Amino acid sequence: MSTIDWTQRAASQKLDGRSVINGERVDAVDGQTFAKHSPIDNRLLGPVVRGQAADIDLAVRAARAAFEDRRWAGKAPAVRKKILQRFADKILAAKEELALLETLDMGKPIQYSLSVDVPSTARCIAWYAEAVDKIYDEIAPTPDSALALITREAMGVIGAIVPWNYPMIMAAWKLGPALAAGNSVVLKPSEKSPYTALRLAELAVEAGIPPGVFNVVPGYGHEAGEALAMHMEVDAIGFTGSTRVGRRMYEYAGKSNLKRVYNELGGKSAFVVFEDFADLQRAARTVAGSMFFNQGESCNAPSRVLVQASVADEFAKLVAAEAPKYAPGDPLNPSTELGALVDETQLRTVLSYIDAGHQEGAQVLAGGKQARAETGGYYVEPTVFAGVNNGMKIAREEIFGPVMGIIKFDTEAEGIALANNSTYGLQASVWSDNINRAHRVARALRAGTVHVNQYDEDDITVPFGGYKQSGNGRDKSLHAFEKYTELKTTWIRID
Ligand code: NAD
Repeated sequence: MSTIDWTQRAASQKLDGRSVINGERVDAVDGQTFAKHSPIDNRLLGPVVRGQAADIDLAVRAARAAFEDRRWAGKAPAVRKKILQRFADKILAAKEELALLETLDMGKPIQYSLSVDVPSTARCIAWYAEAVDKIYDEIAPTPDSALALITREAMGVIGAIVPWNYPMIMAAWKLGPALAAGNSVVLKPSEKSPYTALRLAELAVEAGIPPGVFNVVPGYGHEAGEALAMHMEVDAIGFTGSTRVGRRMYEYAGKSNLKRVYNELGGKSAFVVFEDFADLQRAARTVAGSMFFNQGESCNAPSRVLVQASVADEFAKLVAAEAPKYAPGDPLNPSTELGALVDETQLRTVLSYIDAGHQEGAQVLAGGKQARAETGGYYVEPTVFAGVNNGMKIAREEIFGPVMGIIKFDTEAEGIALANNSTYGLQASVWSDNINRAHRVARALRAGTVHVNQYDEDDITVPFGGYKQSGNGRDKSLHAFEKYTELKTTWIRID
């Protein structure tokens, strides 16, 4: 555990909310800002640029100019690798500053900003850096009279629009493959968590990424976000956020230049426990840990817990006993497990879902209330509902807070059908000691990632993304390069 006094450090932390365009900090063209507060205690963090179409246009032009003169795309992959590795090193060297910014900005516990968010961000950038000079293109099996090369080329200007729940990691999942492949990027962080993205852009320039290649413009979704997604000089949008806004991305593309749209959207992931799984305690510990991590503000949180009827009551008791271990606390205290929700709107949303659970007849086994209101911040107790059925609002809609619902089922077929009965398909898990059942159910679950007898494994090496309305395209792994490159065929005649 760190011995740093984070509260004291927070008091002297410098915060700069200006855009980074063409390698420089700049104010908004029209000088507008918005006031950013911390969800920890509602303290004012500072003014942040309220980017508009004019700011986005400057950033996109800078990115386009950088792409056209090939100051980045034209460098040998091994050179881009070295520079991006330096960028990753700089992220690690700024670990404490970035972790503090993330915690102040969106309320997650400092211990996790330090141990998860910063290292995962650096590893993501380093991993794509290391990959880029090891990937080969293809030659097609054509007749002797010709040679057909199939190559991947950088796409151009990538617009990245990301949410506030893992601000740095979500940005890195776009930046890593997009920059390694030679593109330029304009990143629009969430208005609820702009600070780390802005610092990343400064560190990138210090590492040697040429000015203009990576630009960040903060602002609201319907202003800066829409302007970026509508821009005629943006070749692709890498979006992570809600399904509601993900739909808009297709509209913007349709109304502008048919830019490619890659959406990583919401989830309502099923955690399916069968009676033949012996270690119920481990399953209960795992579901609580995964559900309450990051205050439940995770797209892949296992919020629908489906348990076979014969063990459902025992399982519910075990989970309810885990919940108090995640008592909300001061995010700046290094021992806190569960921090603040991102803002008052999110607090109201989560409390209204808890209300809906009561109204529809589910029973609260743990939590269910707002906490730490005296701090001025936004906290909710980890909450476990039992007696949920899959038709209830709390089982159908993404809550994005520390609230799980336990649903009973009888047969394997019913468990699978309930798990798949969702508009989402991001992740799912199956818990069984029967190897045939584990494989059978894993195959039947309609989700981008299926976990068997665990929920914690995660690595940059594997794709991440959803079926159905959880999105298209995949972040992470070598597959992410497919999103930010165009496939070119070159025919060469051989006489
Ligand atoms: P959101 O959709 O409200 O906002 C996401 C981003 O889009 C923000 O930067 C926002 O400013 C911008 N935006 C909002 N309206 C816009 C518009 N009209 N035009 C352009 N941009 C706009 O989502 P959020 O509340 O920030 O994040 C939570 C959501 O993100 C959840 O649904 C969660 O499941 C999802 N998420 C998905 C993944 C994944 O990989 N599948 C990962 C993390 C979060």
